[in-house]
Amino acid sequence: MTKARNEVELSDKWNVEALYPNMDEWQRDFDKTVCENQKPRWPELSEFQGKLADPIQMKKALEQLLSLDRHLTKLYTYAHLRHDEDIVEDLHKTAFKRMTAVIQDFQQETAWFDPELLAFSDQQIAALLSSPILSDYRFHLEKTIRVKKHTLSADQERLMALAGQPLQASYRAFSAINDADFKFGKVLDEQGNPHELTHGTYGLYLRGKDRTLRKNTYIQMHGVYRDYENTLCETLTGQVQGHVFNARARNYSSSLDAALFPKNIDLDVYHALIKAVHDRMPALHKYMDLRKKLLGLERLHLYDMSVPLVANLDIMMPYEEAEDVIIGSVAPLGEEYQKTLKEGLKTQRWADRYENKNKRSGAYSSGCYDSMPYILMNYKDLLRDVFTLSHEVGHSMHSYLSHKYQPYHYGDYSIFVAEVASTFNEDLLMRVLLNRAKSKEEKIYLLTQKIDDIRGTLFRQTMFAEFELFVHEKVENNEPLTPNLLKTETRRLNQLYFGPNVELDAESDSEWSRIPHFYYNYYVYQYATGISAALALADRVVDGGVKERDAYLSFLKGGSSKYPIDMLEMAGVNMRTPQPVIAAIQKFEKLVDQLEKLALE
Ligand SMILES: [Zn+2]
Repeated sequence: MTKARNEVELSDKWNVEALYPNMDEWQRDFDKTVCENQKPRWPELSEFQGKLADPIQMKKALEQLLSLDRHLTKLYTYAHLRHDEDIVEDLHKTAFKRMTAVIQDFQQETAWFDPELLAFSDQQIAALLSSPILSDYRFHLEKTIRVKKHTLSADQERLMALAGQPLQASYRAFSAINDADFKFGKVLDEQGNPHELTHGTYGLYLRGKDRTLRKNTYIQMHGVYRDYENTLCETLTGQVQGHVFNARARNYSSSLDAALFPKNIDLDVYHALIKAVHDRMPALHKYMDLRKKLLGLERLHLYDMSVPLVANLDIMMPYEEAEDVIIGSVAPLGEEYQKTLKEGLKTQRWADRYENKNKRSGAYSSGCYDSMPYILMNYKDLLRDVFTLSHEVGHSMHSYLSHKYQPYHYGDYSIFVAEVASTFNEDLLMRVLLNRAKSKEEKIYLLTQKIDDIRGTLFRQTMFAEFELFVHEKVENNEPLTPNLLKTETRRLNQLYFGPNVELDAESDSEWSRIPHFYYNYYVYQYATGISAALALADRVVDGGVKERDAYLSFLKGGSSKYPIDMLEMAGVNMRTPQPVIAAIQKFEKLVDQLEKLALE
């Protein structure tokens, strides 16, 4: 029986009391900070409007804005953690909704800041950036000023802001049909028993041993998308047209440029990723060949990609043991790191361990500058849960160290580097588990998991990145996107990536229509660069000495005090070159060789 929240042992719950002792204290702080019945809520904020050219006023404005932001984030964090403990509980739900609205108001009431800064002349900006009074905020301001040459006049910016919502209509339509309207029906297994097909059960069935169920699942799911391909082609076109509109209106050379320039990421990083993967495609084809052989199949289909290669192997591990193994696995990061983590998990109660009634599903690492780095888990003793915990611990330690060593305005880290620390820790855990694996089956199971991780994150996401570039370039060249064009391109890419040993069903050509990430504006390549950086860095730290370790730790402590590529360079990996991607693929090849030797011996 799943416990109700109030039946959960204190030691299994995160220490949310460290943030506020109770809801009453939260409410008192809320009343002190937020004027509920007045608009604007914080009239004092606009006092600085029109005065930012003066460094002294600028500094005061920044201090006030940032300290209010920090305080509101603390209030928000408590409300959202309490809400996730029991998502139907009214008191916390109301607090969470109120805070969401308050944060929106804060954003609106401070929306004048960036435009005022961006409207300054080059001389005014140079004067601000060289002012010693503002030295602590120089890079913070520079990041905003970076897009100055792509900022329009006040009137034009107003139009751009007005166009924001309608430009998201295509994505909203896709989400509505994808999340709400689509019904996928039932699919039959080997014995002819029907199973409900949903987004949630899709992955589950594809990981299962029953090939009939896998096949029916894959074919039926993609069939539904194919039936709506004209609509889905329009929603994708609309979204891409929005990206192109934004790029053209702001005088970027392309939509890719518009997506990468603000984060100071070279276009080369994107193109070099695709080229590095292309040059090493046989590595993936070889694995496909091995997978086919080990599954004993005549032909390998896309619905055979997720099924484990070892039958009925359930490696179970209770939560406390998982903590110990994970704490042990981070030894290469040094005593201080290990001690902090041990105290965090064992004494400070960072983690909310198990499922309870109405608790939010999944897992995450969250928290704020003034809190511990909380971890939400729904731990169920499976090997997958151990890796999830190690993943979230990676995020949490990154947050902990960045918060500890950086001022508030550099305390967060950017999406481009976000998955590096988490993937790094998973890699450390994998090394430990492979070392202590007792049976051949266990080793095969672990190796396959690692190989499939790299396949799904590096190869698959690069393929998606390539598709994304293709559709954007078509729209930029005023060529219409049609379902046939998108299906042909998907088939070409699937053939190229999966190689001659994989049989593509007609339904697989419709994969393009069911990927929500294609609406995110050049997002997916960061999964591929992230895993490459993480694997390269894990090798470097494990094989290296104090210097390599300290370089990596300085990255974890660095928050967003530099641009993401510079941050990773400080850690010891140069993402401006294809080298880390090449190294990750070489590692993949090595793992495949290892698996082959082990499985066929
Ligand atoms: Zn993550």
